[in-house]
Amino acid sequence: MRVRAGAATDVGVVREQNEDSYLASSPLFAVADGMGGHQGGEVASRLVLERVEELHRDGDRPDLAETVHDANRRVLERAADDSALQGMGTTLTLLRMEDTGFRLAHVGDSRAYRLRDDELEMLTEDHTLVNRMVREGKLTEDEARIHPHRSILTRALGVESDLQVDLAVFDVEAGDRILLCSDGLTGVVGDDRIEQVLRDEEDPQAAADTLVQEAIEGGGPDNVTVVILDFEDGEEDGAPAAASLDAVEPEPPPPPAEPEERPRRRWRRWLLWVGIAVLLLVLAGVGARIYLNTQWFVGAHEGNVALFRGIPTEVLGYDLFTLEEETDVPVAEAARLQLYAELPEGIPAGSEEEARDLLRQIEEDLEETGPAP
Ligand code: CA
Repeated sequence: MRVRAGAATDVGVVREQNEDSYLASSPLFAVADGMGGHQGGEVASRLVLERVEELHRDGDRPDLAETVHDANRRVLERAADDSALQGMGTTLTLLRMEDTGFRLAHVGDSRAYRLRDDELEMLTEDHTLVNRMVREGKLTEDEARIHPHRSILTRALGVESDLQVDLAVFDVEAGDRILLCSDGLTGVVGDDRIEQVLRDEEDPQAAADTLVQEAIEGGGPDNVTVVILDFEDGEEDGAPAAASLDAVEPEPPPPPAEPEERPRRRWRRWLLWVGIAVLLLVLAGVGARIYLNTQWFVGAHEGNVALFRGIPTEVLGYDLFTLEEETDVPVAEAARLQLYAELPEGIPAGSEEEARDLLRQIEEDLEETGPAP
């Protein structure tokens, strides 16, 4: 069987850096979607793919699970060496061609699909909280696709040494088309549309370009990466199917993101959702670190307004938050303002920056309204 490949990646419209990396060099095809600030995501996704390539040098065929574990250890070691990279991680969806088909190793929420006889089938399962909720009937697939916390992962490389890797072997038929992609595609372009593009666009490179373009036209909220493989009858000619590690072009400055509104109803929904998520997390015992370390809220500490990392709750007597910064603003003062009435329970923020903005806003609003009567 011969393979023809196409690949494309783009930083998208909102993000400043492209933290996705891909590999498209037979027999290895992969997408890795990095996460973590200060270049961390980009470093993690590249590091993993470079290690995968390295382990396959000179035609070696190492055990694929061991390959992923090895790459995972590299990310952990690198993060331990460099405090600026702490907390970095990456997804990995890795395909390796075999004699009669291919082997897949998968961790995270990048995806592999197969188009066979014009039918699109997903070959991987997202390791996300929302997917778990879909499987438990708590969310529909449509709700999951647009859920604000859909990218919270329950598994990723770079989190802990004890990594669970999904492995599978697939046969191939001439005419099969495989798509590997990051969630920057699937978060924007629906499966029906993906199927249509894969059916209509015969050239793999043109199909990859079209899919990336559609994600950008759909708002491009995230980095987007697409690798497409077409299986044809015939012998491999040995030439690399496409470019190797992606080279990310510098992009012009992106337009500013839409300011986030913070209506109270959203906080309530968010808290409710977090409650369910936390319960699932504790039951499953996975992913908690990724999740908690990336959440922030403003709440009360010894009667004063304070900044916390984590989520404002405890489970079985265990706090799911840590105090990051105290202020001398009394909670009772701030909670007089309707907007901050929920301070005692904690007001979630999407990021550290948002949480610090909220803290500043509270201080400013209090200065404006003056002391309590
Ligand atoms: Ca992503």
